[in-house]
Amino acid sequence: MGLPKCVHCHTKFRWKLIFHSFVFAYHPVKCENCLKENKVKLSSRFLVAFLLVFILYTVGFSSMALSPDLMSTLIIMMITGGLFLFVCPFIVRYR
Ligand SMILES: [Zn+2]
Repeated sequence: MGLPKCVHCHTKFRWKLIFHSFVFAYHPVKCENCLKENKVKLSSRFLVAFLLVFILYTVGFSSMALSPDLMSTLIIMMITGGLFLFVCPFIVRYR
């Protein structure tokens, strides 16, 4: 599982490029080599959404089970969600 490549010329995208695309609602990525647009696969969007919900649910549930403090649970969930954002460029695939 590495960083995705351009579907046209197979050049590996930089992490920063994908992260920016990802943060701005899956904006298409323009390849720096061939200048063609790459759009995020619909299945990738579903996978990212599913993983985010699954991870937040698991972390939230575990945190509440360990110490039933809503504020600390919310903080832990926000930190986990933020960390997940940094991993997302390795998960998304383009078409
Ligand atoms: Zn390209």
